[in-house]
Amino acid sequence: MIRIYNTLSKKKEDFIPLEEGKVRMYVCGPTVYNFIHIGNARPMIVFDTVRRYLEHKGYEVNFVSNFTDVDDKIIKKANEEGVSAEEISQRYIAECKKDMEGMNIMPATTHPLATQEIDGMIDMISELIDKGDAYAVNGTVYFRTRQFKDYGKLSHKNLDDLQAGNRSLLVSGEDEKEDPLDFVLWKPKKEGEPYWKSPWGDGRPGWHIECSVMSKKYLGEQIDIHGGGEDLIFPHHENEIAQSESCSGKEFARYWMHNAFLNIDNRKMSKSLGNFFTVREISEKYDLQVLRFFMLNAHYRSPLNFSAELMESSKNALERIQTAVDNLKFLAEHASTQEMTPEEAAKAEEAVKYEKAFDDSMDDDFNTADAIAAIFDLVKFANTTADEKSSKAYAETLCEKIQGLCDIMGLITEKKEELLDEDIEKLIEERQAARKAKNFARADEIRAELLEKGIVLEDTREGVKWKRA
Ligand SMILES: [Zn+2]
Repeated sequence: MIRIYNTLSKKKEDFIPLEEGKVRMYVCGPTVYNFIHIGNARPMIVFDTVRRYLEHKGYEVNFVSNFTDVDDKIIKKANEEGVSAEEISQRYIAECKKDMEGMNIMPATTHPLATQEIDGMIDMISELIDKGDAYAVNGTVYFRTRQFKDYGKLSHKNLDDLQAGNRSLLVSGEDEKEDPLDFVLWKPKKEGEPYWKSPWGDGRPGWHIECSVMSKKYLGEQIDIHGGGEDLIFPHHENEIAQSESCSGKEFARYWMHNAFLNIDNRKMSKSLGNFFTVREISEKYDLQVLRFFMLNAHYRSPLNFSAELMESSKNALERIQTAVDNLKFLAEHASTQEMTPEEAAKAEEAVKYEKAFDDSMDDDFNTADAIAAIFDLVKFANTTADEKSSKAYAETLCEKIQGLCDIMGLITEKKEELLDEDIEKLIEERQAARKAKNFARADEIRAELLEKGIVLEDTREGVKWKRA
């Protein structure tokens, strides 16, 4: 039985889906105005792993994750570059998908775009107005927060505390609200911004309504799991609940899962502190499998600290698994006997305990840290029980077991051929040395080798420069 820590109840609960054998899961996706940063990568990796594990357990998972492609930040970036907001969002959706592929994140069943779902948003807002849960003032539509009696149930906040905190936050332009707690469902257009027609005038939707609408359209009124970063609990997820449950009169999501923060060198990641990394920047130094492995080494509800040393140790640890897999493949290929001996069969049976330990850890609120420890125990078992005398079947069995567990984690056990920056620099140094020694044949060979892998060299007065083609 899988147990999930539910932010709603603050407890681990048995996972029982609405429909037997099926899981409906929604995870809030990124706002696409730039390359995704490593903070964005954490929920992507975490919930991709949750999905993979649920699939391993035999569930059919309908996984929906949106792209927010209309937003102030996108519009700002578009204005800075003098291009349309659509051009910005399309560009960074494509880049995000490249990063996801590098991190071995499976595409969602559906990746809806907010701008393609405006009709549904207008319908839901109209329904909320009809029910008296929302109201329009001069082109802006607000949700009547106090009307929803369960407001605060996810973030465990009470309305009066919120009211006290909110009074000072009352900003100009929103003074037409009936109550400071009310939040925006639709806002009127501003000059130079994308807009859509609506019964309340030209404008665009608020952010919270997007997820309620896309979740309903692709998964139905009720879903099993809703996920996201813990920074989304309030107000975003609280507002999603208020909108969706006011409309349907039913519980919106059964289990709310939130991953904890990611810090850099023990400090909050921020551009002003200069400790802000995009996934693309990390990919220039490391195979993104290392980033995935690093993130899964912590439980998703624990804060995670990112540092160069931790990435280095993750790289080494991942290599230990990959080396064990390589070794077992080599042994299987060169084995002198085919079938397992009775002793080997007993050992193979013994190794099942590591698979069981892996599943037990994952069943316990997706404890990936303990699950990885189980993989290492299996690796150690393989390294000590398989050798040149082993049968092909035994080496293969152990190899399949390790690979099977890594697959569930989304970890690729084959060593990548792709060249990393430091390898490229080394080859360039070697080429320079070859040229100095007048070994032009070797120098040309290195240039050709790099070119084959998509690296273009350019000899300049300042030295050799290189770029990825
Ligand atoms: Zn959302």
